Amino acid sequence: MDFRELEEKLVAFRDARGWGKYHTPKNLAVSAAVELGELLEHFQWESDGEILESVKDPAKKEAISDEIADVVIYLTLLAHELGIDIGEAVERKLGKNGEKYPLRT
Ligand SMILES: [Mg+2]
Repeated sequence: MDFRELEEKLVAFRDARGWGKYHTPKNLAVSAAVELGELLEHFQWESDGEILESVKDPAKKEAISDEIADVVIYLTLLAHELGIDIGEAVERKLGKNGEKYPLRT
């Protein structure tokens, strides 16, 4: 699924439930941050090694992937509300990063 397909699917899902009225830019940005906090709860007090070990448990891996999905969902809906094409935004930013951090030979 590419970014545009994802956006269309998410907007259709929320519009079918009448949730669009709640999806203001501020509410979506706050929700993305809340979901990122839920993701971080899985890592609180854990070392990188412990985190990598924990995702060998399929249930733990699914719980973490659910939170990553929640963050992506809210950011995708935020971009939709602001008229931002995520694919273009990522490509443009990657280009800027490449100029800022050129390869050293
Ligand atoms: Mg969540």
